[in-house]
This record gives sequence, C-alpha cells and structure tokens, in this order.
Amino acid sequence: MSEYDYDLFVIGGGSGGVRAARIASQHGARVAITEGFRYGGTCVIRGCVPKKLMVYASRFPEEFKESAGFGWNLGEASFDWKRLIDNKDTEIARLENAYQANLKRAGVDIYSSFAHFVDPHTVKLIEEDRTFTARYILIATGGYPNIDQTLEGREHLITSNDIFHLDEMPKRICIAGGGYIGMEFASIFNGLGAETTLIYRGPEPLRGFDDEVRAHVRQEMIDNGVNFVFGEVFTKIEKTENGLVGTTTTGRKIEADQILFAIGRSPLTDGLNLGAAGVQVGERGEIPVDSESRTSVGHIYAVGDVTDRVALTPVAIREGHAFADSVFGEMKTVVDHENIATAVFTTPEIGTVGLTEEQAVQRLDETVVYAANFKPMKATIGGSNGRMLMKLIVDGSSDRVVGAHIVGPDAAEMAQLIGVLINCGATKAHFDTTIPLHPSAAEELVTMREPTRRHKKS
Ligand code: NDP
Repeated sequence: MSEYDYDLFVIGGGSGGVRAARIASQHGARVAITEGFRYGGTCVIRGCVPKKLMVYASRFPEEFKESAGFGWNLGEASFDWKRLIDNKDTEIARLENAYQANLKRAGVDIYSSFAHFVDPHTVKLIEEDRTFTARYILIATGGYPNIDQTLEGREHLITSNDIFHLDEMPKRICIAGGGYIGMEFASIFNGLGAETTLIYRGPEPLRGFDDEVRAHVRQEMIDNGVNFVFGEVFTKIEKTENGLVGTTTTGRKIEADQILFAIGRSPLTDGLNLGAAGVQVGERGEIPVDSESRTSVGHIYAVGDVTDRVALTPVAIREGHAFADSVFGEMKTVVDHENIATAVFTTPEIGTVGLTEEQAVQRLDETVVYAANFKPMKATIGGSNGRMLMKLIVDGSSDRVVGAHIVGPDAAEMAQLIGVLINCGATKAHFDTTIPLHPSAAEELVTMREPTRRHKKS
C-alpha cells in the first residue's frame, strides 16, 4: 500500500491540468483531479472557444455584403443573439463532457470542488469536505480577469466572464483595454452591429505586437466602424435610466448598454492556502516555477496561467504534458517558450510568430524586412476595402527568417505553419525557392523578393 491516496493530485480542470492528469494516468500513475467550476477551464468555457464561435458570427455581415459582387441577391438579414448563445452553450457543454469523458477513459478520479492545501502533501476538497494525500500535487488553477478595484461604479462593469451569457446583445458597448480580449470583442460587437467604442490608456493598442501590425489593425478597425479613444481611462461609471455612462480622465462621457473591462488577467492563487504547503508566491499572485514547472516545494508543480509565463492555452497544455512525461514517464521534457505562434481574432485577424521588427532591430546586427500590403483577391469584386499586411523579418547575418506577421483573412492559419518553418530554422532562401501556390494570399510570403528596409547596427 502506498503511503499516499494518489501519486498525483491535480487542482484545476482546465487545459493544462486535464492534459497533465490524463498523461500521468496513461504513464501508470494513480491520479485525481478536482475542478470547482466547470471542466474545460477558461479556454473552453469562457474564453478561446466561445469567443471564436462569436468571431464567426460577427463576420457574416461582411460576407453578406461581399456576396452581392459575386452575383448573390440576399434578403434583409437579421441576427438572433439568443440563438447564437444557446447554440454556443450546447457546443461548450459537449466539449465539457468530452473533457470529463477523456479523463474517465484514462482512469483519472474526477472531483467537482474547489480545493486548498492542508499541508505539503494534503489537499482538502472544500465543497465535498474530504481530504486526500498525494505524492505529487499539480496546481493548474489558471487566472481571472482584472478590474480596477479603485474605480467608482465598478459594480456596473462586466468582464470576459460575463460577456458570454448576456441576456441581450448590447446595442452600444464600450470596452476598456487594448490587448487581446479588448480588441477581439471590439471586433465581435462591431461586426454584430453594436455601436462599439474601445478606450485604451496608450497611443496604440496591442502593445508588444509589431508596430506596423498594430497601426494597420487599428486603422482597419476604424474603417470597419470601431470608435477608439486613446490616452484615457475611466474614472467613474454611473448607471442611468438609459444604461451606463462612463466618465474618463479628460471628462469625456461615454454612454453604453454594457461596459466590458479587459485590462489583463491575474493568476488565481487566492484561496489555495499555499502557505500551508510552503509554496512561494510572487507579487501578482503568480507561482514562480523552474524550467520543469517545479515550484519552491520539490513535489509541487504548477503549469499554465497561474505561473504567469506565457498565458496561452496551448502553452498550458504543453507544460502539463511535459510535467507528466518528466515526472511519471521518465521522459524529461522542457518546454521551449520561444517562437510560439499566436493569433488575435480581431477583424481583420492577426497571425504572428517570432520577433517583431522592433525586437529584431534591438537584438540583431542586421535586420532585413520584407513587407507587402495588398488587396486580397476576394475584395476585388467583393468590394471590401480591407487590405492584407504580410511581413517577414530576416536575420541579415544568417538569412534565417526570425519573425512573420500577417494581418487579414486566415492569418492565424498561416502563422501556425510559418511557426513550424521558423522552428526548423528556415532561411529566406528556402522561402524564395518554394514555388508559390496560386492563387492564394499565402503565396505573397514566398514571392517578396526586394527588401522593404534594412536596419544595421552602427
Ligand atoms: P492583455 O494583457 O492582452 O491586455 C490588457 C490591456 O489592458 C492592455 O491594453 C493594457 O494596457 C490595458 N491595461 C492594463 N491595466 C490597465 C489599467 N489599470 N487601466 C487601463 N488599462 C489597463 O490582457 P487581456 O485581458 O486582453 O487578455 C489576457 C490574456 O489572455 C492575454 O494576454 C492573452 O495571454 C490571453 N488571451 C489570448 C487570446 C488569443 O490567444 N487569441 C485571446 C484572449 C486572451 P498596456 O498595454 O498599456 O499595458
């Protein structure tokens, strides 16, 4: 008999925790997992997946408009918010069940309760009032959306936790924050026909992305009808007879039916009683870990957003898998956090991987930039004014492609594949010798011959 109830106890049934539990069990470990909300975590339940479904919904009006140029006559379109939400909920419930079914099939014991530490090897399931011991414990509790705790009227705001379940679609929405979530929901609600305003404290949204990409997307979103307010933040939110009124730092008043705050997310460690386990916690509530996801306590590990490394679902999954392989599969695996392809599902969408032009200029002796800005074929007779932007960032010394940035239809799909090339060390010469696939937008990536600019360190 083992001295512990389980070999592994996982706290948190999101992407990272579920993957780790499943793989550890397949390696022969006795595994349990607990989740206090819904299996699937933020990504499946109130993040990437429902968001992408809403992105699809938001892009139909433009398709309807473009179809006229291709000969179609359509009647007047109307949109049913409730039907979208109901169908989305059905799909999310299906995925949630699939997550649990996969865990069961792998032989994992599943609990539905929040949990906290009692001591370094013991967790208590709060709602179930049971305790279990485990040789290893994995913390995979994710994060939660921030709100400004000093803002007057903050009780009137919603966050990304609420946006997927509104009874009615807001006719006017104001979104605070110019990051992934703010920009994506601005595009979604604008596409669905809401009067949409995005307020961002800086001069240009999507800080950290390639500057040319940021400017291009911002302008395209303006052309699509999104209102931007830059250099201001809300100082007060009031409820009135007509909805909400937000007052900004310049005294500007913005009226809306809903005000969505998307000003970042924080690691979710409150309530875990980490002190009882001796696990160190950082200033933002994050759990610092080493390259193998080990916390300050040798047998307690953490993966995903709770560690505040790269807050993306596939990264959490990879970290969870690597942990399980390393600890239970005798296959030591360290996750490489470089060159992760990522997308922002704005309209137009962004797909990006590797260094931005600005990062390359800072790091490399010579940076060569190839850029193309063009009207996609569908827009020619479809009549849309949107333009695509494609950029390759090349290390002038080695000819290696170190970054790729795409804005426009299917940018995410392209970035995923270029990520493989960049990770294989492909050079610009490899791109040049690849025969283009015609007619496609992606062919532009292998036909950009003349550098747009070069930067040399003096
Ligand atoms: P982000 O960190 O992407 O953006 C936060 C935004 O809020 C920034 O514009 C930031 O400004 C601004 N901000 C921060 N603090 C304040 C404040 N106190 N007052 C006003 N503005 C503020 O966070 P999100 O909430 O958009 O998303 C969280 C994370 O979720 C993302 O970073 C990403 O990792 C993940 N995600 C990924 C998606 C994808 O892969 N497609 C989709 C959605 C989320 P500044 O830039 O000046 O700091």
